[in-house]
Amino acid sequence: MTSLVESVTGVVPADQLGTTLIHEHLIVSDPELDLNLPHPEWDEDRVGSRLRAQLDQLSALGVETIVDLTVPGLGRDVGRIAQLVHDSAVQIVVSTGYYTSDVLPPFFRLNGPGRLVTGPDPLTEMFLNDITAEIAGTSVRAGMIKVASDDRGITEDVARVFRAAAAAQRQTGVPITTHSDPTTRSGLEQQQLLGQFGVPLGRVVIGHSGDSTDIGYLRELAEAGSFIGFDRFGMTHMGRDADRLRTLQTLLELGYQDHIVLSQDAAVFSRMTPPTWRARHAPQWRMDHLHTTILPQLRAAGIDSRLERQLLVDNPRRVLVGE
Ligand SMILES: [Zn+2]
Repeated sequence: MTSLVESVTGVVPADQLGTTLIHEHLIVSDPELDLNLPHPEWDEDRVGSRLRAQLDQLSALGVETIVDLTVPGLGRDVGRIAQLVHDSAVQIVVSTGYYTSDVLPPFFRLNGPGRLVTGPDPLTEMFLNDITAEIAGTSVRAGMIKVASDDRGITEDVARVFRAAAAAQRQTGVPITTHSDPTTRSGLEQQQLLGQFGVPLGRVVIGHSGDSTDIGYLRELAEAGSFIGFDRFGMTHMGRDADRLRTLQTLLELGYQDHIVLSQDAAVFSRMTPPTWRARHAPQWRMDHLHTTILPQLRAAGIDSRLERQLLVDNPRRVLVGE
């Protein structure tokens, strides 16, 4: 039996995922701010057209699947995405999880086991429902779980999100991608916590690891079994592509090609770093940057088509469905 992956437009057999960008964002927003402090650069029609044009361009470049890691906390709106991509040639996998590297909204403080309004943890219920039933009335299911921690470490609320994510992972087999802070080597504490909660570390991507040039740290993450995300190509305000490429090549020479995934953490529209800011400060931070700029450099450096396929097709498939 072929393993199946949920996408916005239906289930995809694992062997039809093809070239996959494993860590991207389509639209990052903030619904409460959008209501009360609309962003001057937001224009629903224009953003929709840009999104569709970007997907057409990616499809022409050979991209077949994108994992959208926009979860609650980053303004996930799967109904909107489903409308925009229903006839796209690129398969979109959406995610559940919660994006906070510090505290959860007040609702979660008062609701959950042992809280004022006691009951099951609404985080666990949401993650499981998103994966096994549907995301908030959309009939779309999640194919990835996203969690985050940063330089503040594992706060109480971050631990709660990780616990809920681990429960959902164990019950459904859906993988976990983290947002980590490589400068504080936070991927290691993420692995430790997820391991404690019973998650097989081979089903975890430690995101943003490629922003580190610390080979010892990256080897430790890979040796523990996880995938390491070189997932911010083009994000010049967080690191130089030249450094990412050099680190990537060192890890490939050391034999870690089974543990590496490539992506860009880009977005078509993000309220946090709006289009005019991106155009001025990070003009290459786009979802086509890997194919138009980075892959030609890797090929020139001697990476053959077999290795390229492993990084862009085989490894993302192994992330999404396991071995
Ligand atoms: Zn991201």
